[in-house]
Amino acid sequence: MAKNQKYTLTRICSLQNKSISIFAPMQPSPSTTPEVLIIGGGLAGLVNAIHLSGAGRRVLLIEKHDYPRHKVCGEYISNEVLPYLRHLGVDPFAAGAVAISRLALSTVSGKLVEAPLPLGGFGISRYTLDHLLYQRALANGCTIVQDTVTDVTFAADTFTTTTRSGQTYTSPFVIGAFGKRSNLDARLGRKFMQRQAPYLGVKGHYTGDFPADLVALHNFQGGYCGVSLVEDQRINICYLADFKSFKQHKNLAAFQDAVLCQNPHLRDILAHATPLFDEPLTISQVSFLPKPTVEDHLLMSGDSAGMIHPLCGNGMGMAIHSALLLSESLLRFFAGDLPSRAALELEYRRKWQETFRKRLFAGRLFNTLFAQDRVFDWALTALTFFPQLLPPFIKQTHGKSLLVDEQEGGV
Ligand SMILES: Cc1cc2nc3c(=O)[nH]c(=O)nc-3n(C[C@H](O)[C@H](O)[C@H](O)COP(=O)(O)OP(=O)(O)OC[C@H]3O[C@@H](n4cnc5c(N)ncnc54)[C@H](O)[C@@H]3O)c2cc1C
Repeated sequence: MAKNQKYTLTRICSLQNKSISIFAPMQPSPSTTPEVLIIGGGLAGLVNAIHLSGAGRRVLLIEKHDYPRHKVCGEYISNEVLPYLRHLGVDPFAAGAVAISRLALSTVSGKLVEAPLPLGGFGISRYTLDHLLYQRALANGCTIVQDTVTDVTFAADTFTTTTRSGQTYTSPFVIGAFGKRSNLDARLGRKFMQRQAPYLGVKGHYTGDFPADLVALHNFQGGYCGVSLVEDQRINICYLADFKSFKQHKNLAAFQDAVLCQNPHLRDILAHATPLFDEPLTISQVSFLPKPTVEDHLLMSGDSAGMIHPLCGNGMGMAIHSALLLSESLLRFFAGDLPSRAALELEYRRKWQETFRKRLFAGRLFNTLFAQDRVFDWALTALTFFPQLLPPFIKQTHGKSLLVDEQEGGV
C-alpha cells in the first residue's frame, strides 16, 4: 500500500557516472483529485472501491491499517453475496473458503437444536477475504493509501478530507465506510456515540476438530459465541459479551472459564481446541443503535450505516450488499440518471431502508430473545420438536441471493 508521501525520491541526472538523487515535489496525480473518496478499507469500502473503479470511476480509498490483518469477526458469511463477489472478480473458494450448510443453536444449559441453513454460507478469515478484495481493488486501478482520516467537511458542493499525515484531498463524493465505531464518528458528532455501547467482541483461531459444514451459535450468560471453520482447517471462535458481565472477572481466561464454559458445548470445544494466536483479539464498545445512512452528504456504507447483531451471521453480507446499493446509485448519478446530489441521497436512503429495515428489526428481536435465558430455553425446546421452524426465522435476517445480470453489470 502506498504510504502517504508529499515528496518522492527522484533520480534526475547522472554526473560522471554518479547518479544524483534529490527529493522533488510529486506531480499531481488522479489520486489527489478522485471522483469518489472512500474512508475505510474493510468489506464495504473495498467493495465500493472495486465496483466503482471497475466501472471506470477515479477512486481513492484511505485505510488506516495495512493488509492483510486479522479482525474480530465470526467469519461466517452468507451465500447471498457470493454471486456478487464472483461478479466483482473475487472468489473466496479459490482462497480456501469452507462451505457451510448447517446451523446449531444451544442454550446455556446445553439444550441443542440443529437445522439446515436456507441459503448456506462459507467460512473465510477476514485476514484472507479483506486481502483478496484489496488486491482486486488495486488491480482495478483504485488508489489505496494507508493513513488515518481525521476530518471531513462539506462546503460549496465539495468535500475536503484531511488525514493524520497532513494530506488534504478534495472530491465531489465521500463514502464513509469506517466500520462500527471510528474516531470520525466522534468528530462528526454522530448521535449513537452519545449512548453507551455495552458489548465486547473477542475472537481467536484454533486448531482442533470441528465439522466443516457447521456453524454453531452457543449461548452463555450475557452473550453468545460463534464457532465455525475458515480456510486451512482453522476453527474460528468468536464471541460477543456484555461488558458489565465481563468486568466482574480478572481477565479473558477467567471469564471464559467461569461464564462461557457453563455451556457444556463451549466447555468441550474450548477444552479440545489449541489457540493459534498469542492472545485473542478484542474490540469494545460495539453498538447496534440505528445510524443515518447519509450524514452531512457523507454516504455511509457497511457498519457505518447500521449494524445487525452478529448472532444473525449477516453483518458482512449486509456490508457488501449496502456497498452494492450505494455503488449502483452513484453510477446512476454519474450516468445522468439521477438529476442531483439530493436525488442520489434520497435514492440510496430509500433503497437501504427497503432492503435492511426488516432484517435489523428481526435482529434486535432475536437478540432480546437470546438474552432471556428462560424464554430462549423454552423457544429452543419447542424447536427441538419442530426444527423445521428454524429456517423461516433465519430467513428474516437474510436476503435473497444477489443474482448478477452480466449484461447490465447490475444486480
Ligand atoms: C463479535 C462480532 C462477530 C461478528 N461475526 C460476524 C459473522 O460471523 N458474520 C457476519 O456476516 N458478520 C459478522 N460480524 C459483523 C461484521 O464483522 C461487520 O458487519 C463487517 O465487518 C462490516 O464491514 P465494514 O466494512 O462496514 O467495517 P470494517 O470491516 O470494520 O471496516 C472498517 C474499516 O475502516 C477503517 N477505518 C476506521 N476509521 C478510519 C479512519 N478514520 N481512517 C481510515 N480508515 C479508518 C478500519 O481500519 C477498518 O478497516 C461480527 C461482528 C462482531 C462485532
